[in-house]
Amino acid sequence: MAKKYVYLFSEGNGSMRELLGGKGANLAEMTGLGMPVPQGFTITTEACTEYYAHHREISDEIKDQIFEYLEKLETITGKKFGDPKNPLLCSVRSGARASMPGMMDTILNLGLNEEVLEGLAELTNNRRFALDAYRRFIQMFSDVVMGISKDGFDVILDDVKLRKGIEYDYQLEPEDLEEIIARYKQLYKDDQGVDFPTDPKQQLFEAVKAVFASWENPRAIYYRRMNDIPSSWGTAVTVQSMVFGNMGNDCGTGVAFTRNPATGEKKLYGEFLMNAQGEDVVAGIRTPKTIKELAQIMPEAYNQIIQIADTLEKHNQDMQDMEFTIEKGKLYMLQTRNGKRTAQAAVKIAVDLVDQGLCTIEEALLKVEPNRLDSLLHPQFDPEALAKAEAIAKGLPASPGAASGRVYFNAEDAKEAALKRNEPVILVRAETSPEDIEGMSISQGILTARGGMTSHAAVVARGMGRCCVSGCNDLRVDSDNKVCYFNAIKVNEGEYISIDGTTGRVYLGQIPTVEATLSGDFGRFMEWADQVRTLKVRTNADNPKDARQARLFGAEGIGLCRTEHMFFAKDRILAMRQMILAKTKAERVAALEKILPMQQKDFEGMYREMAGLPVTIRFLDPPLHEFLPHDDDETAITAYEMGISFTELKNSVNRLKEVNPMLGHRGCRLAISYPEIAQMQTRAVMQAAINVVREGINVTPEIMIPLVADAAELGFVKNIVDEEAKAVFEEQGIKLDYKVGAMIEIPRAALLAEEIAKYAEFYSFGTNDLTQTTYGLSRDDASQILDDYFKQRIFEYDPTTKLDQNGVGKLIRMAAIWARQGRKDIHLGVCGEHGGDPVSIQFFQTVGLDYVSCSPYRVPVARLAAAQAEINNRK
Ligand code: PEP
Ligand code: MG
Repeated sequence: MAKKYVYLFSEGNGSMRELLGGKGANLAEMTGLGMPVPQGFTITTEACTEYYAHHREISDEIKDQIFEYLEKLETITGKKFGDPKNPLLCSVRSGARASMPGMMDTILNLGLNEEVLEGLAELTNNRRFALDAYRRFIQMFSDVVMGISKDGFDVILDDVKLRKGIEYDYQLEPEDLEEIIARYKQLYKDDQGVDFPTDPKQQLFEAVKAVFASWENPRAIYYRRMNDIPSSWGTAVTVQSMVFGNMGNDCGTGVAFTRNPATGEKKLYGEFLMNAQGEDVVAGIRTPKTIKELAQIMPEAYNQIIQIADTLEKHNQDMQDMEFTIEKGKLYMLQTRNGKRTAQAAVKIAVDLVDQGLCTIEEALLKVEPNRLDSLLHPQFDPEALAKAEAIAKGLPASPGAASGRVYFNAEDAKEAALKRNEPVILVRAETSPEDIEGMSISQGILTARGGMTSHAAVVARGMGRCCVSGCNDLRVDSDNKVCYFNAIKVNEGEYISIDGTTGRVYLGQIPTVEATLSGDFGRFMEWADQVRTLKVRTNADNPKDARQARLFGAEGIGLCRTEHMFFAKDRILAMRQMILAKTKAERVAALEKILPMQQKDFEGMYREMAGLPVTIRFLDPPLHEFLPHDDDETAITAYEMGISFTELKNSVNRLKEVNPMLGHRGCRLAISYPEIAQMQTRAVMQAAINVVREGINVTPEIMIPLVADAAELGFVKNIVDEEAKAVFEEQGIKLDYKVGAMIEIPRAALLAEEIAKYAEFYSFGTNDLTQTTYGLSRDDASQILDDYFKQRIFEYDPTTKLDQNGVGKLIRMAAIWARQGRKDIHLGVCGEHGGDPVSIQFFQTVGLDYVSCSPYRVPVARLAAAQAEINNRK
């Protein structure tokens, strides 16, 4: 039997997401539930995959099926494609397995041409409506399918409106629309060299192709990379018969959420526009009315929405985001999906769903994407500073959080400021569009003059966890001249403003911020995660302050303390330089003795903050020349401070320079050349531990040796540690337990994990170096090289941030097995960047590591990811 590539809504159901995409599966499910859904069919994601397999062509087999199902749809609706007397018009939308708002493109009113237009005008007795539908279709088809810029169409529309002295589109008269249509068509012809297509079947076919092609547009690729969506999924295409919200004042269209997507409050929430088509609400061109107002205007439709919302939420066990249209008083549901929400709302909704008996704790834990927690962990405005600040404008609180930054008026300038000059940025736009996505993602916050809570800016900002104020009516943006006005107050590009996405307020200048805490719903949710997970979560922290923050975020110990960061401090670097430049061992020991008390004090602080939890201290790792001055000015100052000549210092710096420092004299190799460094560090670790133990705090130090490649190296350094520890214990009259372990960050160490385990009580996979050395790709230079790899579609993601499970992961999987063969109870963790990445955490759980360690702000993310990994592994 031939493969089935097309399904009527009545043939599918909600479990077919992979094949029908989220939109298609949900429409099928709603149809099955007997809801008022305009009927249609879905072309499967497999058809999309086929399209790419056939060099971006739709095969005859699929084409035939599309037209076969079009006929079926004609029978169901009793209308006919291209028939002026009784025309079928369709919307064509994309729908991937995971929703990608703003990424893919929609075409409405497909099937219109001059004859159908006349028929529609007659049939509806509303010529203005028919003309308006046609001009929208021409514009959307030209933009989405043919890639003709919207700007030219906007110029024509604005020109006619200006000439007529009108403000809104709905004020256009039929003859204005006729003129616009004629000019639109001419624009199309000038651009394409052919007339606008009149054959509805050709329109449909081109539109389907365009949806498939849009799966590979740069915005979609970028969104997928940000959200871990594989490109192999493809998108489905939904073809749905049109209903019209713009046929008069008993018509309208809108969106409704079963709960407030910004706060999570359980209350129907939404917006609608009378006499309008769906795009008007989303594009934010007219500011919509709240859904509550619909109760007065059309109580019947409103009550029906309430009922449907309730059914859909219970059925899908999650907050729903629905699109509806009212055509001549009758309600139609155009789609439903699990609604995008702020992180704050996501957590509240998950907790409420459990309390309301709608889902289990484990189901609730799976409803929040771990990376989203990030936005809850970031600072809010300092309440005292905020009380003194005066708001200059107020918009809609579209996505919570607080941000101060320099104003930029387009995505390019914003990117330049953020990426090249490291500036905090607030992107200020009249309204945003999908082209702005990258600019939005690198901004601290987004402010728009137009658009409601469901405008593009609001939806995308919430998805990204960026703070956003939308629909700020006091704001006028003059992006050509790179200025904006808050009523009479002028703000130029590069000046600071502050925005509060929780209240919608906008302030001039910078406002200081304060740290977030885990309390209330968030605290409860995280406790659930802790009950479920088996993987421990530690933190990478190099000072007591970070250690404290990590503890507040639930860290269960320190998995990596990079001691070199302590040597870089201004008040220590001189002693460090003296140590490096020492000509004799005695000189070196003297310099190290100056550093010892400083390190010891740091370790004491960290032990205290960790209050008995494990603390892993890694010995000095970077090449020594990194501590020396980098240019002549700095060399001159340092030489003066050290009491040596410029030339002497310069010569020493040159002598220490390496061709490949990343592969050079670093890690345990330093301890082998200069055992006294390892001695000093051991002494600092042990003396600090003894002091803190004497205060009544339990400490079992863990000393970690970096860049090990061979058992003999570790054996050598461990010997130094053991001897020095013994000496300290004898001097102090106390003996403590401690552990020595190795970082596994070179492929050879992974391959020899069984042998090296002879000397190691624990291993921590240093996946930063392990990725670098497995790929042979310098981590400092990778990003430039990888840009080309992304462009050429050779890599889909950056292995320095998301673990390469096939290669680096294979080494880790094997090393874990071998390590346990070498030492049954060896403790295994990971402390590279990947330790805070949810997808990588799932992998670490699968290969049976004991803990992950990540930066303090990633700790809650990792706790949730670990819980999800446990739940997924049980499935
Ligand atoms: C690593 O290599 O993964 C690691 C944690 O060490 P560093 O980043 O300090 O090299
Ligand atoms: Mg490393």
